[in-house]
Amino acid sequence: MNDDEKLKENNTLAERVWKIRENIQELENVKEGIMHFLLSRKKLDDVTKNLWVSDVKGLYYNTVSAWEMLNSAAKGNLKFLDKSKNFLHNARSLLAKVVSEVKFFKEELVLNLITEIENSFEKCWSAFYNEFDILTPEIKSTKHIERVIKVSDSEYHLPCSVCGKNSVECKIGYGRFDEHESLVYSGITHSRSLRKDLANNLFKILKKENLSGVHQFMQKYHSIEGLDAYCPDCDKIYCWEHYNAREEYDDGFYDCTMGECPAGHRRMIDD
Ligand SMILES: [Zn+2]
Ligand SMILES: [Zn+2]
Repeated sequence: MNDDEKLKENNTLAERVWKIRENIQELENVKEGIMHFLLSRKKLDDVTKNLWVSDVKGLYYNTVSAWEMLNSAAKGNLKFLDKSKNFLHNARSLLAKVVSEVKFFKEELVLNLITEIENSFEKCWSAFYNEFDILTPEIKSTKHIERVIKVSDSEYHLPCSVCGKNSVECKIGYGRFDEHESLVYSGITHSRSLRKDLANNLFKILKKENLSGVHQFMQKYHSIEGLDAYCPDCDKIYCWEHYNAREEYDDGFYDCTMGECPAGHRRMIDD
């Protein structure tokens, strides 16, 4: 590609990114509509009202931040790409939360509001992902992604089988609220400290790269959802993005997280 062509390509990228602002503008209009709806409901106490209004705002501002990061990434600063994705995924979680909150009102208008906000966010989402796909540096198919990475005798990482991003950590250490050393597990949805004396058992399974064994271990000692980043049908690990993880809410309260792997296997990964 010569310099002229390169310049042209960059321009069209910048133009497309700029154009996403139109989608975000539409999202802003819908956000205003929902805020107006919530603020004018008499059935709702002020504390809840403020919380729910701030969720709608959060949905919008996370999308705006995602755009700012994408704009930087499009100018060549690829480290902003992941940040943009994080903001956009936060926005999608908040969308689920907002929808569950608006549903609290059994009014006819509610269905329209939900359709509007879902459609308008979906437009933003696909416009963003169009650019993410173009900008994401391609993982060379020759590049081998390990199933298990041994960092040390007391720390193991599990990378995403699609992009190689570190998705699970198991190590001896201190969790956020731990007074004593424990076996700290950090997955794609949450972290948890388990009894330290279980570590040897788990590390033996990890050494054998037996992911389904790790999953069973977590089912036994942690929760029935097991290893959150793991798809049992594929016998593979996926990061938050590639497991297409989505939080679900009920009247604004967190319910669970569902994951759907690239092969379409769907399961509850956190409850
Ligand atoms: Zn991934
Ligand atoms: Zn799968």
